[in-house]
Amino acid sequence: MSEVQPQFEIKSAGQLRADVTLTNLLGLDRAGLEAFFIANGDKKFRATQVMKWIHQLGVTDFQQMNNLSKELRNKLSEISCIQNLQVAEDQISTDGTRKWLLELPDGNHIEAVFIPENDRGTLCVSSQVGCALDCSFCSTGRQGFNRNLTTAEIISQVWLAAHLLEEEKKPDRKITNVVMMGMGEPLLNFDNVVRAVRIMMDDFAYGLSKRRVTVSTAGVVPAMDRLGDTLDMRLAVSLHAGNDELRNELVPVNKKYPLEELMAACRRFIDKQNSRSRITFEYVLLDGVNDKPEHARELIKLLKGIPTLMNLIPFNPFEGSGYTTSSKQAVSRFSEILHNAGMTTVVRKTRGDDIDAACGQLAGKIEDKSRRHRRFVEPRFGME
Ligand code: SF4
Repeated sequence: MSEVQPQFEIKSAGQLRADVTLTNLLGLDRAGLEAFFIANGDKKFRATQVMKWIHQLGVTDFQQMNNLSKELRNKLSEISCIQNLQVAEDQISTDGTRKWLLELPDGNHIEAVFIPENDRGTLCVSSQVGCALDCSFCSTGRQGFNRNLTTAEIISQVWLAAHLLEEEKKPDRKITNVVMMGMGEPLLNFDNVVRAVRIMMDDFAYGLSKRRVTVSTAGVVPAMDRLGDTLDMRLAVSLHAGNDELRNELVPVNKKYPLEELMAACRRFIDKQNSRSRITFEYVLLDGVNDKPEHARELIKLLKGIPTLMNLIPFNPFEGSGYTTSSKQAVSRFSEILHNAGMTTVVRKTRGDDIDAACGQLAGKIEDKSRRHRRFVEPRFGME
């Protein structure tokens, strides 16, 4: 593991706080930028010019945007800004995974992680400061919840990662995929997430195809329907159990939207997407809790007829979780049962665990408004 020093200047949280009255262009999608320029008496095509400067060329100083008139550059400096988050910590794991702790203008911190693999580079992005959903095996949930991220705060994670990785000057350090699987439940921050995804997919910004952007949900059913009506992209569902009793315990939002409703929403989502769509189901394997053959058989029954990619994730322990990692034998037995039933199944390799960047380990540093973290002075199962 090593620390990395950024080579370009990033504004401090104090400076960010001072600029809150200006429109942060980083958070405007193409339609938003077009509306911004029209409202300020300019032409709509300025939007694509400015998007390219910001997202593709990484320019945050209006004076460098030399295809805009001097007058427009000065005006933009008066009424708007391009403000990124501050990098508080920058760590690289021995396996090449890179994690950033990013400071928000209000002093909270979130995390983003870059995971390099053979044929891709995946950036895991946060959508909220903490998470209100309180999944029992999740380090983020344990931290409590503070607020939603703005569109600019979500897209800043992509901007910073893209440009900090570029500084490494290595061919395999490019973002090819984005997964909204960091801190937070993306669908509870719907409008900002949708705007951010639009910027990720815009050819004048990051140009990611719809198959390379995944939004994850723990199962907020009405928002899944809304997402299916709004965007054509990949959906991942954090499943973790194939029956309501166990899922109520592991993923408490299941009490509001039980499995029958969740599966119906998955089917509706698939129907709205193109014919090659499938849903990724995330399943964290917890020793003795949800990793037995009967649990695998429950999944086969539950997911029948839904085009599925099953992502099995060996639990990444964190202090006080009360859970332990499934044995290798249990993981391969579970995977084999699904595979033999014809389900596309992948066992996710643990990445970046020496820098606490593995799945379910993102914690940031947040001021908890839910006061949930106070419940976890003792390990969970010691208390219940
Ligand atoms: S698993 Fe996802 S939805 Fe559940 S608490 Fe963690 S961040 Fe929130």
